[in-house]
Amino acid sequence: MKIKITTQEFDNIINSIKDKYKVIAPVSIPYAGQYSDTDVIRYEEVKSINEIEFKRKSHFTAKEVVMPVTETLFYYTEGEYKIPTIDERKMLVFMRSCDVNGLHRIDNVYLKNGKEPDYYYKRLRDKVKIVLIGCEQSFRNCFCVSFGTNTTEDYSLGVKVNKGDVYIEIKDDEFKDIFVGEKADFNIDFVTSNDVKVTLPEKLNPLEVAEAELWREYDYRCIACGRCNLSCPTCSCYTMQDIVSRENPRCGERRRVGASCQIPGFSLMAGGHDVRVRNGDRMRYRTMHKMYDYGERFGPQMCIGCGRCDDVCPQYISISTAMNKVTQFVKSKQREE
Ligand code: SF4
Ligand code: SF4
Repeated sequence: MKIKITTQEFDNIINSIKDKYKVIAPVSIPYAGQYSDTDVIRYEEVKSINEIEFKRKSHFTAKEVVMPVTETLFYYTEGEYKIPTIDERKMLVFMRSCDVNGLHRIDNVYLKNGKEPDYYYKRLRDKVKIVLIGCEQSFRNCFCVSFGTNTTEDYSLGVKVNKGDVYIEIKDDEFKDIFVGEKADFNIDFVTSNDVKVTLPEKLNPLEVAEAELWREYDYRCIACGRCNLSCPTCSCYTMQDIVSRENPRCGERRRVGASCQIPGFSLMAGGHDVRVRNGDRMRYRTMHKMYDYGERFGPQMCIGCGRCDDVCPQYISISTAMNKVTQFVKSKQREE
């Protein structure tokens, strides 16, 4: 079902359902960006559709809704512990097609990668209702078309704003009596081409790729800041922190905190051995995980081609270029054979 309502009507509706649904969407925060006088676009709770940034790509992604950067797993004291409660409301989360595919990638990691789904991820994920935002044109550094993540069918609502009206495609019966308006004829926009294109090799020898000279460039270009990981919709690694009370060391809380494979110490093992010491080795690990390793376990490659890691890298390092370099390397090896 497709309908049209005014922005004011849309705001009235989300206000009327605010006890049941929290609306989370990308918003522009002025002067908080990477460079002076630039904005940062990140996810926050909104009360009006006018707060939502539809025109530009967000720097950070909706994954923080299901994977908070810092999340308390439990509080403990003496012989007892308590798991924190969460907001009971469902979440209407505005995302682009690539990010919906990104959510599916981390679903595999947290819900299908062991005997049991991850309790903390699942309890948040079960509350998510996807609201799809279309893309009228490709953004800088995007290569979603190369990876087929430029489209999706997995959404409850599709939303498009045009000249003060909100066009809504309702796919989830839960919302049929909530969003009511005049019938409309429109389609959510999906891009069909990007300036950046990535080709992955059909097969490769990961040990041969690991020894390639191409990674050495990143030893000095990458400064191991980890921004690429934190902005990536599919990076899902975390580390643990125990926050212990100074007054009573038997009282505290355990948190999981987002981690970065590009930062020194990520692969440090007990006994002091580190398997990836050089920055280029960690770039190789991230690139191969995104284009090859994850796919060996779950099917599609992990990267969804959003280009955010390229957008935020202070050293202008591009993962799409790195992936294409790997493909060139594999082809040159195949020619030699
Ligand atoms: S383009 Fe970069 S940020 Fe986007 S999914 Fe791929 S690795 Fe992650
Ligand atoms: S690739 Fe760029 S964003 Fe990522 S750690 Fe290196 S310098 Fe930082």
